[in-house]
Amino acid sequence: MPGLVRNMYWESTIMSVSIPVLAGPAQALDPKLRRDLKTLATFIEIYCEHHHKDSPRQTATLRTHDIRQLTGHDISLCPQCTQLLTHAFVKRSHCPLSPKPACKHCPAHCYHPRFRVAIQNVMRFSGRNLILRGRLDYLIHLLF
Ligand code: SF4
Ligand SMILES: [Zn+2]
Repeated sequence: MPGLVRNMYWESTIMSVSIPVLAGPAQALDPKLRRDLKTLATFIEIYCEHHHKDSPRQTATLRTHDIRQLTGHDISLCPQCTQLLTHAFVKRSHCPLSPKPACKHCPAHCYHPRFRVAIQNVMRFSGRNLILRGRLDYLIHLLF
């Protein structure tokens, strides 16, 4: 995708102007999608807690999903991680591939390059963190 077009696409997704609102409660989501969104939110939360302690953080809210319903609690994120969460939720919710591969094995990774690097860092760090905490249940279905 040419750079200008890609940037415009990214801005349209991140500015949340053209994001379709997903109707209904989180329970209505496909179980795999729900699991992946919960994993994304949890991993980004862990990463932000450890890396952005000094940034202003506030409860993450999305127009498209109820984070509290997905994760069972509110999550606090800095602005940077809130942008990453928004981007990741849009991309995962609109993944065109079926069956969906793990994103790290995707032949056409759909994330904006900036967010692709960011989410890989998040998954690496938070995956390690969860292993150290014995939370292997989160690692069975790693996305990245
Ligand atoms: S990176 Fe690939 S598998 Fe992951 S959401 Fe995008 S298109 Fe789907
Ligand atoms: Zn953060």
